[in-house]
Amino acid sequence: MKNNIKFLDDWKGLTLDEIFNLCKDYVEDPEYPTVKKWRENGGKVVGHFQVYFPEEIVHAAGLLPVKICGAQSEGMESEAHFGSYLCSIIKTSLDIALTKSIELDMFVTHPICDAARNLGAIWGRNFPYKCQILYLPQNPNSKLSIDYLADEYNRLKRDIESVAGREITDAEITNSVEIYNQSRSMMRELYDIKRETPWLIEAQDAYALMAVAGFIPREEHNELMSTVLAMVRRGSAKKQDKMRIVFEGGFCEQPPLDFLHAISRSCYLVDDDLMIGLRYITEDIPLSGDPIHNMADAYIEKSSYSPVQHDLRKPKEEMLLRRVRDSNAEAVIVSAAKMCEPGLEEQVAYSKALDEAGIPHFISEFEENQTTFDYISIQLETFVENLLFA
Ligand code: SF4
Repeated sequence: MKNNIKFLDDWKGLTLDEIFNLCKDYVEDPEYPTVKKWRENGGKVVGHFQVYFPEEIVHAAGLLPVKICGAQSEGMESEAHFGSYLCSIIKTSLDIALTKSIELDMFVTHPICDAARNLGAIWGRNFPYKCQILYLPQNPNSKLSIDYLADEYNRLKRDIESVAGREITDAEITNSVEIYNQSRSMMRELYDIKRETPWLIEAQDAYALMAVAGFIPREEHNELMSTVLAMVRRGSAKKQDKMRIVFEGGFCEQPPLDFLHAISRSCYLVDDDLMIGLRYITEDIPLSGDPIHNMADAYIEKSSYSPVQHDLRKPKEEMLLRRVRDSNAEAVIVSAAKMCEPGLEEQVAYSKALDEAGIPHFISEFEENQTTFDYISIQLETFVENLLFA
């Protein structure tokens, strides 16, 4: 693959709004044009299901890691493969593969819930390439969890090497870790802007900018981020009288951009768990020593939280309260994807903790392919007015 190929349309010279619109078009496109372009140029693709995945190993092999996180499609092709009471992301993720909207050379899922656990086997029955399950530690509190995870990453590495047709060296993984460290650092900067000056970037724009990282080479995304963050910081938008809100519930299935836009109309979204897998590692991974071990250590020791990781050192309710405090938020939208068992279970615990802490919150549900947003706008406006005039 030639190094100078770009997978996004040329965005240099565009205004900030034009760049955000370009990102949004890509994020909403179920045909994954950047992945098609990668394949047309002879590249191979490893798709991985939500939430966290060590993309650096795939990147080090010269393959494109792609975040498989559903699409705004009907999911009709996949209907026959599943029961009815399932979240949408499971169906539409398989659907985009069955309809060849996206073509892969390997697929990896994780046992984050019953639906995702079974996805690997169902996927594997329909495609000739390898479908793997990556078992992230169920108990990150065990002393052996880092060694166990390093072994899992090495098992995954051997499969990726067989797709790439060559071995992956430690130096290549370290180089990829460095590129991903830069990426994570800029994502942290994006979230600093959301917390400190949320009027400079709307929720749906910040989301689209970040989500593009899921389907282009990370070097290209780093270039985009570094330019756009500087443009955002130079922005002249004035602070408005909007409520500061945290959104919780976007760790796996993602709400549509219009859902976020509906929130932006009456609130500043100052923090969230949207696409948390892209931001799961919260500090730079060291560049010296065994890179696989360093990555495993970072997952256990320097990571965020979600309803599908069960770490006793990170009680999720406390982590949410910390997110609220750190972002100086006034209220929380506790949301969940429809039919998402882990998300809906956590709503109860979050709601109780927020009640006890006296933090106003608003319970909602979403679906990736919903098309009406009036109800969320009206409910949210009413919620905000009630708080303002209480
Ligand atoms: S949205 Fe929830 S139920 Fe669906 S795959 Fe993700 S974690 Fe599992």
